[in-house]
Amino acid sequence: MMIYLDNAATTKPCAECVRAVASAMENTFGNASSMHDMGTASIEVISRAKRTLLNAVTGTGKPFDGEVIFTSGATESNNTALAGLNLRSGKIVTTSIEHPSQARVVDKLEASGHEVVRLSPKDFDDFEGAVANAVDNNTALVSCMAVNNETGFCIDVERLYKAVKAKNPRTVVHIDAVQGFLKVPLDADLISVSGHKIHASKGIGALYIKKGVVLSPLILGGGQQNKMRSGTEPVELIAGFEAAVNAYDYKRGMFEDLKSLLVNEVSKISGVRFNSDDKCLPNIVNFSVAGVRSEIMLHSLEEAGIYISNGSACSKGKTSGVLKAFGVSDKDADCALRVSFCADNTADEVQMLVKKLAETVKRVRR
Ligand code: PMP
Repeated sequence: MMIYLDNAATTKPCAECVRAVASAMENTFGNASSMHDMGTASIEVISRAKRTLLNAVTGTGKPFDGEVIFTSGATESNNTALAGLNLRSGKIVTTSIEHPSQARVVDKLEASGHEVVRLSPKDFDDFEGAVANAVDNNTALVSCMAVNNETGFCIDVERLYKAVKAKNPRTVVHIDAVQGFLKVPLDADLISVSGHKIHASKGIGALYIKKGVVLSPLILGGGQQNKMRSGTEPVELIAGFEAAVNAYDYKRGMFEDLKSLLVNEVSKISGVRFNSDDKCLPNIVNFSVAGVRSEIMLHSLEEAGIYISNGSACSKGKTSGVLKAFGVSDKDADCALRVSFCADNTADEVQMLVKKLAETVKRVRR
């Protein structure tokens, strides 16, 4: 038996993706740069996938007004977006809840002389308003995530984008939308997404670039993808990504039901504190169980074939600094667990998780 509740870390590739990858490997494996018709066939697969991605990202039915390039994942998309802007001066407004693939690049920009303002959700009731308020005439960039990977905390990206542009139309807005892609409406100058969080494979992601935004490539070479991202296009992974986008169906109502069940049942265990609130998407639930360190709990659950995460899969072994920005104490962060759903999960699985959680708490606290 396996109960997989770690979908914010990665998702199982869907059948549509697996079929599309296999089919592209067998049928359209030509190099998209080749002059013969096998090259043309691969170009067609890539072009169609780009159209699908451009149509899907806004979540409003309106296509994105710009282009999209394929990358190896959101880490590369974030690096390309932030480093590719070649900012010479100006303030950067960001948050203290960003993923390391964004935060480390911002750190580097700070070290090179940029003023960086980092805002924490715990300090504001209206977070979008606070981010927009921090923008002034000298602000070159706003970069923040749509949905936080540790708690599910979610911002209104469309509102943020409009508010920033109203304050300074020259400020470039970058959104790390890895956990929000196909789940919430999106609009920005630059948007990073990743395949493996929406049931496509690892090794494929994308960066959306709004019309008029000038960006230089991070990866130089043969000049593929309009010189924006060199390297032979992984046509198989791109076909799989498109298939996963087409197949994706965000079942918000179902996640709300699973979340309520989890919250109700877990609340019966003493010493539980929820780190995800109503501003969070319902597919991610973060909570701390006092007295049981995350690692102990994870291993106990693993023995029963149940897979969840500590605060974040990307900060393995470290107490999450991100939870602190949500007002979680170090002690609670040490005991933080993240349950993240996909459409395959069931109420029975949540019940089994809670049963095992309660058993472990009893055994460890004894
Ligand atoms: N940003 C966020 C919010 C993420 O959750 C992740 C993946 N954990 C990334 C960026 C990095 O994405 P990738 O694994 O595709 O490099």
